[in-house]
Amino acid sequence: MVLGELGSALAGALRKLGEHTVVDEEVMDACLKEVTKALLQADVNVQYVVQMKKNIVKQVNIQELAAGLNARKLLEKAVFNELVNMLEGGGAEVKEKFVPKKGKPNVVMFVGLQGCGKTTTCTKYAYHFQKKGYKPALVCADTFRAGAFDQLKQNATKARIPFYGSYTETDPAKIAADGVERFKDEKNDLIIVDTSGRHKQEDSLFEEMRQVAAAVQPDMTIFVMDSSIGQAAQDQARAFKATVDVGSVIITKLDGHAKGGGAISAVAATKSPIAFIGTGEHIDEFEAFDTKPFVSRLLGLGDWTGLIDKINDVIPMDQQPELMDKLVAGQFTMRILYEQFANIQKMGPMSSVMSMIPGMDGMLPKGQEKASQAKIKRMMCLMDSMTDEELDTTSLKILQDPKRMERIGRGAGRGPGDVVELVEEYKRMSKMMGKMKGMKMPKKGGYGHS
Ligand code: GDP
Repeated sequence: MVLGELGSALAGALRKLGEHTVVDEEVMDACLKEVTKALLQADVNVQYVVQMKKNIVKQVNIQELAAGLNARKLLEKAVFNELVNMLEGGGAEVKEKFVPKKGKPNVVMFVGLQGCGKTTTCTKYAYHFQKKGYKPALVCADTFRAGAFDQLKQNATKARIPFYGSYTETDPAKIAADGVERFKDEKNDLIIVDTSGRHKQEDSLFEEMRQVAAAVQPDMTIFVMDSSIGQAAQDQARAFKATVDVGSVIITKLDGHAKGGGAISAVAATKSPIAFIGTGEHIDEFEAFDTKPFVSRLLGLGDWTGLIDKINDVIPMDQQPELMDKLVAGQFTMRILYEQFANIQKMGPMSSVMSMIPGMDGMLPKGQEKASQAKIKRMMCLMDSMTDEELDTTSLKILQDPKRMERIGRGAGRGPGDVVELVEEYKRMSKMMGKMKGMKMPKKGGYGHS
């Protein structure tokens, strides 16, 4: 997961407390030392770390520990609170998240230095909202970098998002204005404008940003920043904020950078809301940033809200009661299994889903993830060659009919062993789902008694 090393070091330090029958001052000191070490290694500002340590000690009263209260839980809670405070910039300021309004053309402008991942992030952002039912469109106003338009075009085509740009026009403000106008006419409700990046904070970059902003009048300006610069993020975020009206920040490349903790805490210090984080090169490796669930996952406590959001993202709410009704009636069919597989695939990399489940983070080694994705694909392919009768039945007699099994395998270009594997998986899932038969489910819109 994001900041995996920091997360496992913190979780490890807390876990060690559980090994002691008596948690005295010495044990707690040793634990706090490990916590501080982990934070410093993740490049979190020394002053923050020192202050955090003090606050934790204040929160965890050693006398209470002696009275037999669960030391690990108390310390865990204190560390959690401190990390949340740090990431919320230490202020009680309520940061309202920008949510594009449906049915109105929201214009969002992306700014950042060259190579920070801006173009990739524009597409990720568009794709994220496309999944939520918006009609996004991309405008390439980067006339500085050769190949910028081609890159955006390629990304946009892959994600099936309309795009606009020009090989001949050299005025970025004009391209931006033309593109925005075009997509307003075409009733797109989220128009994303990618601007040029430069190697350093040159005046010309800022001037160009001002001109593009004046031409398109964005509803939101997002500053994209590469996490590998660590604490230097603070100065960069300040410089951009001072020039254009930066409304939120997206921090990229949080996968595999030891300095990620530095970047996140430094941006938080500028009180700029972090809207999303980039966690890989793939279009799906992009997450909404919410402090509490993020810290929860960092400490290995899981993130149920994130998981539920993710499920709601891919399965429209109004389809879920129907599925529940079917399961309660004991009608688990191949068609339902197919739909579930399709949902899992839409959720993106399995490891990011797993990291949201308490205790599951890190349980799926990289190689295994690929293998399980391939297995899902194989099974879906077999189901594609099933008849409606086979997809909608609950009868094993039909599903295990040798003639049918042979035909299904042949139709999908696979061997009989693969069909057996699919039916076995169906039986296993069916048994699990069978436990739901006759269960009393919460009524729609609440959890009252039924
Ligand atoms: P731009 O110059 O700011 O538009 O940057 P690009 O979008 O071209 O990205 C620069 C490089 O960073 C590309 O190779 C991207 O694939 C990569 N990149 C972007 N975001 C991420 C991320 O979250 N994680 C990783 N590992 N790579 C990223």
